[in-house]
Amino acid sequence: MPKLSDRVHTFTDSVIRRMTRISNEHGAINLSQGFPDFDPPREITDALAKAAKEGPHQYSITFGAQNFREALAAKQERAFGYPVDPNNEIVITCGGTEAMMCAMMTICNPGDKVIVFSPFYENYGADAILSGAQPIYVPLVPPTFDFDINLVEEGFKQGAKAIIVCNPSNPCGKVFTREELMAIGELAVKYDAFVVTDEVYEHMVYAPMHHTCMASLPGMRNHTITCNSLSKTYSITGWRLGYLIGPAEVIENAKKVHDFLTVGAAAPLQEAATVGLKFPQKYYDDLLELYTEKRDYFLAGLDKAGLEHNVPQGTYFVLVDISKFLALPQFEGKTDLEFCEWMIKNIGVAAVPGSSFFKEEVNHLIRLHFAREKSTLDEALSRLAKLQDLLK
Ligand code: GLN
Repeated sequence: MPKLSDRVHTFTDSVIRRMTRISNEHGAINLSQGFPDFDPPREITDALAKAAKEGPHQYSITFGAQNFREALAAKQERAFGYPVDPNNEIVITCGGTEAMMCAMMTICNPGDKVIVFSPFYENYGADAILSGAQPIYVPLVPPTFDFDINLVEEGFKQGAKAIIVCNPSNPCGKVFTREELMAIGELAVKYDAFVVTDEVYEHMVYAPMHHTCMASLPGMRNHTITCNSLSKTYSITGWRLGYLIGPAEVIENAKKVHDFLTVGAAAPLQEAATVGLKFPQKYYDDLLELYTEKRDYFLAGLDKAGLEHNVPQGTYFVLVDISKFLALPQFEGKTDLEFCEWMIKNIGVAAVPGSSFFKEEVNHLIRLHFAREKSTLDEALSRLAKLQDLLK
């Protein structure tokens, strides 16, 4: 067998996606990989049926169908507070995953440094490796997940080309305040670096917090590459529709990277999802209300089940502390991954081991999500409550 590239040996498969596969094998309730178990809005699926009959079925323009980009630009203008040029400042990608990879490949040379907050969304590690960048980690310190801005500046002093800001933050649910973003932005400007944001949970920010787009802050338009996706906002994770928004010169080059990586996102799906991009504000208000209810309900259920957890300010993820179970003799020496595998088989609920999100040695956290119908959450909570039996 001829040798494979060195690159592929430097990272593992995604633990998030692996947990979904193991969960499916064992018929567990899957609260690991974050995606909803409820349908997308009817208007979008109706539009998909129409697209199936009437098209388009051939390639869209490589950087996104014109009507899709125009609808997105209009939505984004409301978020940024200034007009976005649909022709020169947007690339439509195959999911937020490609958007982030495309941003990294557009701005990084091999060996360039990129600041990443830890905990971080798993993909950023592989994104860095595949784009040749070297991460400099800055901790978000539990329980509040605050960070030391001096450490961010240290990273820039070491020559970091960019900083990745996942806001709201997967997996810890932190929502960066306007002041925090301003402080990061000022440093990016001072050291002439980019801020690459991942804002896929922008519409899941719970009161009293609210979402601030980095690109909307004074002076940040030319320093920010906003990555996002329709997956979570419209409950269409399988459609793989994402996008990058940035300054024209960045986007002109990101278009080339995207073109040769994937040519384009699925044309009929862009056509159907355009309907969603045109939804009025009420849609987003209702979505937030739905997730606020789910969050409060699920967290109350965890409390009742005697499980310690953080209180996410945004996203649909929650970190649960499993220290007291790992201290039991039967789990001696076990990792959080082994605990999650045990939990799938014996409790019937799948979670993601926290270690897959942290640079630091962390073995006592697991991530659950609550993007599930209430009946599914009820069943998951009653199964999780059985963990207490271990302590008896
Ligand atoms: N962001 C989701 C999660 O963290 C999953 C995204 C994905 O698997 N592409 O679970």
